[in-house]
Amino acid sequence: MKDTFKHQGMRQQLVETLINKGIKDKGVLKAIGKIPRHLFMDSGFIDHAYQDKAFPIAADQTISQPYTVAFQSELLQIEPGHKVLEIGTGSGYQTAVLLELGARVYSIERQQELFKKTSKFLPKIGYRAKSLIFGDGYKGMPVEAPFQSIIVTAGAPFVPNPLLSQLAIGGRLVIPVGDDVQVMTLFIRKGPKDFEKHEFGDFRFVPMLEDKN
Ligand code: SAH
Repeated sequence: MKDTFKHQGMRQQLVETLINKGIKDKGVLKAIGKIPRHLFMDSGFIDHAYQDKAFPIAADQTISQPYTVAFQSELLQIEPGHKVLEIGTGSGYQTAVLLELGARVYSIERQQELFKKTSKFLPKIGYRAKSLIFGDGYKGMPVEAPFQSIIVTAGAPFVPNPLLSQLAIGGRLVIPVGDDVQVMTLFIRKGPKDFEKHEFGDFRFVPMLEDKN
């Protein structure tokens, strides 16, 4: 599969759409302008890759809407070299955005099929995460903690304590919290037991599930 001028043109239009919707972070916009999102999609949806919409991927999951990816990425305030944990690798698109921002990325996926597919695919197009694992995101990745940022890309019914405790002081957790609709929530760790909480309106995600298959 190729990245053509047509794709690049559509990608620039998508970037314009995101700017019009309020995304400001230059690094995030640049990453979205660069990453060939069509390569992350199942073949039936490739023609729609640069619409600002979520689409189905394998295992009944979805590649998040570009606006949502941009919004979450902007909230993380990533700087080059930051150690970042992602829960819900999925297609790997958000992983690629984090890598473009210069993060060292650790990512967890609980669907075996997606884990296998994306672990093969990402390096093929030049994106190398520090670690992609098949596991349960509710537990985080204690061996690699602390993280400057943690991003959850599935709807969490509650905020898992392990994720809060694996944040570095000054670190940021961005997590959509809720059952049918999720409130985008940012926690900033101010001290060992001190967390600041901010809420940013409603989003819709596939659910964060507890049992591995
Ligand atoms: N970041 C992805 C979004 C995928 S949708 C992308 O850009 O494509 C959310 C993903 O979270 C799905 O792949 C789903 O399988 C995964 N997920 C759900 N519950 C999980 C859990 N407990 N631990 C890890 N991943 C989980």
